[in-house]
Amino acid sequence: MSEVMVDVHDVHKSFGPQEVLRGVDLQVRAGEVTVVLGPSGSGKSTLLRTINHLEKVSHGWISVDGELIGYRRSGGRLYELREKDVRRQRTNIGFVFQNFNLFPHLTVLENLVEAPVSALRRPRRRAAEAARRLLERVGLADKADAYPRQLSGGQQQRVAMARALALEPKVLLFDEPTSALDPELVGEVLDVIKDLARTGTTMIVVTHEIGFAREVADTVVFMDDGVVVEKGPPAAVLDAPRHERTRAFLSKVL
Ligand code: ADP
Ligand code: MG
Repeated sequence: MSEVMVDVHDVHKSFGPQEVLRGVDLQVRAGEVTVVLGPSGSGKSTLLRTINHLEKVSHGWISVDGELIGYRRSGGRLYELREKDVRRQRTNIGFVFQNFNLFPHLTVLENLVEAPVSALRRPRRRAAEAARRLLERVGLADKADAYPRQLSGGQQQRVAMARALALEPKVLLFDEPTSALDPELVGEVLDVIKDLARTGTTMIVVTHEIGFAREVADTVVFMDDGVVVEKGPPAAVLDAPRHERTRAFLSKVL
């Protein structure tokens, strides 16, 4: 058994009076792919955002590669991390958004070089060499000098994945990476994620692509109303769900 890379422990998150996460537990082992399913509003994006410091948890804790996210423990108490430690942690956690979020005024290559140079202090030439290798990996070596607006949605999302990989993260988080794409562009993005899975990248993928979950996931997690309703291997959760809420959801998306 490989080590736990992401550990989410009894995480609660409230926005004002609304409790959006109501005690989520989740363990993702190094090299494994976890697919998170669930209806709109069930808290999937909020869960990913707490892992990447985009939201602070109200209760509970999260660790990535053994390090508490946003906090450190001392004498049994939790202390908030300093801004520079938070920035360092965030470089370990790649995030791929539904709407790509590329820098529109930068070329594809510049999009990939920016963070390694500014956050990891890599020499620009080395960062550019690594960026070209990543573009090759996502099949876009010929687009290095293009601007995002000149690319299709599928190509932009592949650039966004390469950009996330440029920081050599310990885990990659995907929030509905294909739901903004025309149907014919979904496959090229899922193919890149499959390739990453084959090479042992630790990933948490929120998606409604059930076929992809079946093929690629080590673990499928079904969330509803701020809790994990059930989780297990794809064959168990997708083909023999134990909970009525999971069955109801699957009957709508399959
Ligand atoms: P999902 O990704 O599963 O659709 P979300 O995590 O985006 O669900 O949202 C869960 C709930 O939290 C929704 O009711 C949403 O309106 C609410 N929510 C999310 N972000 C915020 C926020 N920043 N402020 C207030 N409410 C929010
Ligand atoms: Mg969402």
